[in-house]
Amino acid sequence: MSVDRSTIWPYRDGEPGRFYYQRYSHPTGVEAERRLGELDGGHALLFSSGAGATTALVLTLLSPGDTIALAEGAYFGTGVLFEELEHWGLRHVEFDQTGTPPDGVQLVWLEAPSNPFLTMPDLEAAASHPARVVVDATAATPVHLRPLEHGADFVLHSATKYLAGHDDALLGAVVCRHEEDAELLKDFRTRSGIVAGPDACFLLLRGLKTLELRVRRQTDSAIEIARRLGDHPQVQKVRYAGIGGLLSFDVAGAEEARKVETSLRLIRNATSLGGVDSVLEARSRWEGDRVPPGLLRLSVGLEPVEELWADLDQALKKSLISRARE
Ligand SMILES: *Cc1c(COP(=O)(O)O)cnc(C)c1O
Repeated sequence: MSVDRSTIWPYRDGEPGRFYYQRYSHPTGVEAERRLGELDGGHALLFSSGAGATTALVLTLLSPGDTIALAEGAYFGTGVLFEELEHWGLRHVEFDQTGTPPDGVQLVWLEAPSNPFLTMPDLEAAASHPARVVVDATAATPVHLRPLEHGADFVLHSATKYLAGHDDALLGAVVCRHEEDAELLKDFRTRSGIVAGPDACFLLLRGLKTLELRVRRQTDSAIEIARRLGDHPQVQKVRYAGIGGLLSFDVAGAEEARKVETSLRLIRNATSLGGVDSVLEARSRWEGDRVPPGLLRLSVGLEPVEELWADLDQALKKSLISRARE
């Protein structure tokens, strides 16, 4: 399919057709939503970013005075956004998503697996909670997890990451179990203008063609790298959920982490995750005390696993030399 960048489509005999103004919907977006809806088994809607999708979802579902139970250790930006929304009367509490969500909340927000702590939620415990359940499955992708089949009401994706997959499109998605929810959310999206443009939707469609191949290969490489990191003398702890290409590990401290970051040759020292190129960064630069100072988050790309390992190993060895000189 080619990209139709029109913002308007002429009426026929004075009547608007299927498409009339891009903010409501456009052909490339509808096609990308159809494909993603199939992958997750629900009704998909695209937004201008993952954070935009989160904003639209909570403002559509909740009212001032409502409380969200947010998985502890979930994506930092989600907690920061919920704090921002406290001005408008939305509250949130954190809880351990490997257990049961707290009572008295109107929405349960899980992350599978959490970024950067890599815990997996207890989906069964959440599904039996009276509140509706959102699973941010950005890191799992539909290749490894279809949360709607486990009782979730909504799946959220930062499609910027694995779904688009090439670090060149900013996009978010919500996949709804119920069509009525999708309609409400779509109305809010149209009114608020938190919409995804045709070019980004086209890049998503292209990315989805190779999603399964990419994610299976990244998972195979991540399993191997997590195993080797676990045996590495400079590594204190490895976190990996067993699925997907995302993992995190700890070196001794902030200085060692910086040395690893600046010694890498193949793996890029950059933020984000889910692209075909591997990236690594110390998360404390963004998350402060919430993470150990030596925590490095690695998104495993498509490079040969032996080349990735050789790069990590040489960078880890340099981090040891730096401490010995002190
Ligand atoms: C990146 C990310 C987001 C935010 O998505 P953007 O596309 O950057 O707005 C949300 N959740 C998770 C788990 C993420 O990794």
